[in-house]
Amino acid sequence: MIIYHRSQDIDRHLREIQKQGTTVGFVPTMGALHHGHLSLVEEAKQENDVVVTSIFVNPTQFNEPDDFKKYPRTLAPDADKLIRANCHFLFVPSEDDVYPEKEMRKQKFDLGGLDIRLEGAYRPGHFKGVAQVVSRLMDIVHPDTLYLGQKDFQQFRVLEYLLLTLQKRPVKVKAAPIVREEDGLAMSSRNVLLTDEERKSAVILNQCLQKTLDSSRQHAPEPLQATIEELLLAEPMIEELDYFELVDAETLKPIHHWEDAENVVALVAAKFPSARLIDNTLVKESGRFRTTL
Ligand code: AMP
Repeated sequence: MIIYHRSQDIDRHLREIQKQGTTVGFVPTMGALHHGHLSLVEEAKQENDVVVTSIFVNPTQFNEPDDFKKYPRTLAPDADKLIRANCHFLFVPSEDDVYPEKEMRKQKFDLGGLDIRLEGAYRPGHFKGVAQVVSRLMDIVHPDTLYLGQKDFQQFRVLEYLLLTLQKRPVKVKAAPIVREEDGLAMSSRNVLLTDEERKSAVILNQCLQKTLDSSRQHAPEPLQATIEELLLAEPMIEELDYFELVDAETLKPIHHWEDAENVVALVAAKFPSARLIDNTLVKESGRFRTTL
C-alpha cells in the first residue's frame, strides 16, 4: 500500500494510471477503522482495479469543538488494517492541504434542502462541512466510483445530490449496507467512547428499528413512529432522543402513508452520556437500496 500525504502527489499518480484505463474506487473516512469501513474497501476492490482510502478528521463538519477533540485518531492500526485488506492507496492529508485557502472553509453548496432536517437540524453546518471535504477530496482523487455507507443515510443522499445532481461529476456513487456488531449495534468509530453500561443499552437502537420493520405491515407510519418513540424515551441511558422518524428515502421528508414513497427509511439519533449515536434501516425498499438489518 502506498501512503500519500500530499494531494498533488496522489492526484498525479492516479491521473497517470487512469490514463492507462485503470479504474479507481474511493472510500473516504475519518479513520478509527472498523469492519464497516473495511466492507466498503472490500466492495471497492471487487469492482475496481485499485482502491484509495482517505483518512481525514474534517474539522469543518464538527459543530461541537469537544466532539472534534475527542474523535478517536488511530492512524497506525488503521494503516495496518488497510494493508491487511489489500487496499492500494492510503491518502492522509493535512488540514492545510485539504483547505489551502481560508475561503474554502466558508464555501457553501445548495444541497437541495436534504441538509436541513434530521441530522441537519441537530448539527447545524454539519453537511456544509461534509460537502466541502468530499467535494475537495473528489477533485484530488477523481475516482470512477465513490463508496459510502448506508449507516450515514442522510449523508449518502446529500452527497449523491451534491456530486451527481449539482456538480454533475462523472462518478458512480454507491451505498453499502450497514455492518453491525453481533448484538445488532451498528459499527461506529464513536462506539469506543461508550461506557460498558451505555454500550449494553445502545443495542436498543437496533431493536427499535427491527421492531419498526416487523410492525410496518400492521400499523400506519405515524402511530408506529409514536410507539417506537415511547420505547426509546423509556430507555434510561438515552439522555436525549434527537429524532426517530419514518421518511421518504429520496426527499427525507416524513411520510403519512406507506404508499407515499417507494423507499421508506426509519432513522434514529440518540444522545448517550458519552456519545451521540445514529442508526437507520430501510422499512420499504424497491431495490435501489440494500436492507440493513
Ligand atoms: P466515517 O469514518 O464515520 O466518516 O465513515 C466513513 C464511511 O464509512 C462512511 O461512508 C460511512 O457511512 C461508512 N460507515 C461507517 N460505519 C459503517 C457501518 N457500520 N457499516 C457500513 N458503512 C459504515
